[in-house]
Amino acid sequence: MASTETQAGGHAGGAAADERVISVENPATGEVIGTVPDLSAEAVAELAARARAAQPAWEALGFEGRARVMLRAQKWLIDNAERVIRTIVSETGKTWEDAQTAEISYGAAAFGFWARHAEDYLADEKVRTSNLIAKGRRLVVRYKPLGLIGVIGPWNYPLTNSFGDCIPALMAGNAVILKPSEVTPLTSLLLAEGMRECGLPEDVLQVATGGGDTGRAVVDEVDMIMFTGSTRTGRLVARQAAERLIPCSLELGGKDAMIVLADADLERAANTAVWAGFMNGGQTCVSTERIYVEAPVYDEFVAKVTEKARRLRQGVPTGFGTVDVGAVTFPPQADIIESHVRDALDKGARALVGGRRREGPGRFFEPTVLVDVDHSMAAMTEETFGPMLPIMKVADAEEAIRLANDSPYGLAASVFSRDVARAEAIARRLEAGAVNVNDALLNYAVLELPMGGWKASGLGSRHGAGGIRKYCAQQAILVSRLHPRRDVHHFPYDARRSRLISRLFRLLYGRGRRD
Ligand code: NAD
Repeated sequence: MASTETQAGGHAGGAAADERVISVENPATGEVIGTVPDLSAEAVAELAARARAAQPAWEALGFEGRARVMLRAQKWLIDNAERVIRTIVSETGKTWEDAQTAEISYGAAAFGFWARHAEDYLADEKVRTSNLIAKGRRLVVRYKPLGLIGVIGPWNYPLTNSFGDCIPALMAGNAVILKPSEVTPLTSLLLAEGMRECGLPEDVLQVATGGGDTGRAVVDEVDMIMFTGSTRTGRLVARQAAERLIPCSLELGGKDAMIVLADADLERAANTAVWAGFMNGGQTCVSTERIYVEAPVYDEFVAKVTEKARRLRQGVPTGFGTVDVGAVTFPPQADIIESHVRDALDKGARALVGGRRREGPGRFFEPTVLVDVDHSMAAMTEETFGPMLPIMKVADAEEAIRLANDSPYGLAASVFSRDVARAEAIARRLEAGAVNVNDALLNYAVLELPMGGWKASGLGSRHGAGGIRKYCAQQAILVSRLHPRRDVHHFPYDARRSRLISRLFRLLYGRGRRD
């Protein structure tokens, strides 16, 4: 386990001995495992100044130089996987498998992906124009790193959703201030230490530990903000970014729906539902949070999910294979889960599995399967972010689509059917940034695919070309290689020439043709 007291002070930088600190707890055991500085706005400004001073040399290193650091970091992560897993597990209470499958594998893949693709995605783009007036000019779009990026992250994936976004921002040539969640800051500090061991120049990546005030201070200092967290905080960040007129990218909450059609492979659908609902204790932004099943297969599907959910082992994760479902990481989250379950039960739902918070030590909520649910219940309409799977019977696919879209959120969704063409047609009618057919969550691991929410689930996206271009200013360059003394549109204006140009316009555009 990381000795966090010294580690945090060293990594966060700028924390004087008399500064406020935040205690970090192991949610599975209730033990305090370390403290980190709660940085003030002045301390954040200091980190920002140092990062800005370090950025030009990092940019000047070029793609190859930066990629070398990333590939060393990839190897470092695999060499130190057990140490990183222990740190993630100790501050989140998730299982070792969840830390390995959705964090180590994501980080390792992301280091390689951005090292390989950053240069292609950010290469100068040659453009051709149909505008006669600009013919003959060289037209180029180029991408220039914005300078200093702020990354603010949530507690549920300290590596993937906090540190993970630093990788493309750094590969683009920026310096980064990372503000991890105050609940899970230790992984970011460890990863920053790893990056330094791998040759990342001093000050290019700064970790600013602290709470919401530290987050606000980060938004005040940077040239662009990449925020992952709740929709409520996302709106505050967007407002602050608007005030400063800096770009922001927001990855927010969700209430992901799964639709199971009557012709689905029910065994696969049930296995996927149980995994997508309970992996990481249901604390994944793209967790399956509600399921709509066509009436003819509802009973069989519910029976399969119930049987599989009953077999899940929950408890303190002490190594691979010890438990299937870990703890509730964030203290107030346990209250939200409990209130959603109680509200559903009060309104007529039944819990076929689980339904209760477990006695301490540690903070656990039993994997819970609810039936007889409807949209009058918070469990079907609000983000629960816990190990709870409500299943609703629907008459047909049309009703499932209508209910799936009856949500302020639009993060991800999934559709199960043996008729993949029909399932894809349904996917296209769902209001969600990503839809998996006969799968769930998997799109997140495909770094070539954009991942971003619709509606209240976010603005912008991560991954793919857009996932690195957003860390750059786009510049259009027009070069007139032939330079006559005067162009036809220059002064002095002349009636005869202008009438000639009118005739030319009529010829070009007067017939409503495509160019
Ligand atoms: P949160 O919004 O409470 O906090 C997120 C981060 O914002 C934390 O680091 C927090 O300290 C910081 N913060 C708080 N107030 C701030 C302010 N005014 N200005 C700047 N920063 C501020 O979210 P959380 O509880 O940590 O995370 C859970 C939420 O994150 C869930 O809603 C989940 O769906 C969402 N999430 C989304 C994605 C995605 O990719 N869409 C991924 C993971 C988590």
